[in-house]
Amino acid sequence: VPVPIFDCVVFGATGDLTLRKLLPALYYRFRDGQMTPESRIIGAARSRLSDDDYRARAARALEQHVPAQDHDKQTIHHFLNQIFYIPIDATEPDADWSQFLRVLDDACIRVFYLATSPDLYGPICQALGTAGLVTEKSRVVLEKPIGHDLASARAILESVGSVFSEAQTFRIDHYLGKETVQNLLALRFANTIFERLWNADVIDHVQITVAETVGLEGRGGYYDRSGALRDMLQNHMLQLLCLVAMEAPVSLQADRVRDEKLKVLRALKRMDPHDVATHTIRGQYAAGAIDGQPVPGYAADLGDGSTSLTESFVALKAQLCTLRWANVPFYLRTGKRLPKKVSEIVIQFRAVPFSIFPSDAAEWHPNSLIVTLQPEEGMRLEMMTKDPGPGGLRLSPTGLDIRFEKTFGRRFPDAYERLLMDAVRGDPTLFMRRDEVEAAWCWVEPILQAWASRPDHPRPYPAGSWGPTAAIALIERDGRTWHEDLE
Ligand code: NAP
Repeated sequence: VPVPIFDCVVFGATGDLTLRKLLPALYYRFRDGQMTPESRIIGAARSRLSDDDYRARAARALEQHVPAQDHDKQTIHHFLNQIFYIPIDATEPDADWSQFLRVLDDACIRVFYLATSPDLYGPICQALGTAGLVTEKSRVVLEKPIGHDLASARAILESVGSVFSEAQTFRIDHYLGKETVQNLLALRFANTIFERLWNADVIDHVQITVAETVGLEGRGGYYDRSGALRDMLQNHMLQLLCLVAMEAPVSLQADRVRDEKLKVLRALKRMDPHDVATHTIRGQYAAGAIDGQPVPGYAADLGDGSTSLTESFVALKAQLCTLRWANVPFYLRTGKRLPKKVSEIVIQFRAVPFSIFPSDAAEWHPNSLIVTLQPEEGMRLEMMTKDPGPGGLRLSPTGLDIRFEKTFGRRFPDAYERLLMDAVRGDPTLFMRRDEVEAAWCWVEPILQAWASRPDHPRPYPAGSWGPTAAIALIERDGRTWHEDLE
């Protein structure tokens, strides 16, 4: 799909996200001809750098974050020539915003990408508006997290919304840019076999796991103010839940898809303090080992000697008040310093209601559909099959497997490549609408409040384990098991 000429102003240009994700994503789009030679990237941050200083920094970032086989000296050289830098402190009342006026081209699409901490979103947008930098062809891209709770999210949405219209605002959740996540829509609505089974009659429960092996990675200051619920669950995991649970949209038009996701968020059963006590588990990693290597605990990673009550792990049981999903629990868990890096959705089907096979003929595994987002994007349908051979009828589970990179035999673009180009084209389908962000915070808010009213220490778990034992009990007391225990 053609991409128009654009200027992309990245606030937070010296930060981790820009250097690790955004510049490599833009490089790939440039290499594949989607970023035209007239388009420009204008980095902005407080650091006092010249264009050349910043280009040198961008070159190092590409060296580090783009695999060697994709380095092409000539292409990198041309790409860097399209990058510029403007030093600015967004909190400084006397900041000279007219610097941007002198550089930006009114005739082309203008994307303001806010890769800064969320408390700067309002001030930056206000300043852009006052300086006359917001044209009809302008858009703003906001990174997560939008706010810290419902009130702060609303304040940010309000402040940004007073400068940029909803159609100009692109709230990014990079999980929605992943191929597998978009494939959930294809799986459900482009195949006859699944949608008919996609309900409480056939599905027993759903599990969503986002597990990381890393700890705080020197970003403790940010993470400790946030925690697993705000950092992962409120946004990425609820978006995944929406795509699993939503009804078929009447079309793929952005608002029709987002209407259906919104209905799911509104159908989530609100938790009262008793539900929070019984259906949510907070954990914090203690010292342990990952891949056989000893690693320190959360407090040591934080490194300031403080005792933190922030959770690095959360597991919870969510319920949807809809006909389709009545009594089908959604178990969600996410955490740092877990045994492996994996993001997956497990659709666990019910067992066959009656078996004609002798009970010792098989180790029964009801069917499950496992959608993997990380480390490899793919889908696997687990089914019972007969063991080959003449020795009687013995059954065991086998998988129908699609590994996307292998199946399609080409590099899978990173989510940011797709989303950045969608923002330039003005396609908001894979971005969160304002009411979705608010609805997600509305559901999370009572959990945050209940936790705040009982500020006990999160349950410790050794690094390299699957979280506190209470998280295992959360699902096992319902007679179910987390997926990795079945493997
Ligand atoms: P970061 O490494 O701390 O970078 C923050 C950036 O903001 C730096 O470039 C900093 O540059 C700039 N900045 C700070 N104060 C400023 C001011 N007053 N005026 C202008 N620029 C200012 O943060 P990050 O990890 O890149 O994250 C950025 C945003 O993306 C956050 O909202 C984060 O939650 C979100 N996010 C990050 C990731 C990730 O993987 N890193 C993933 C998803 C979402 P100077 O110091 O030079 O001013």
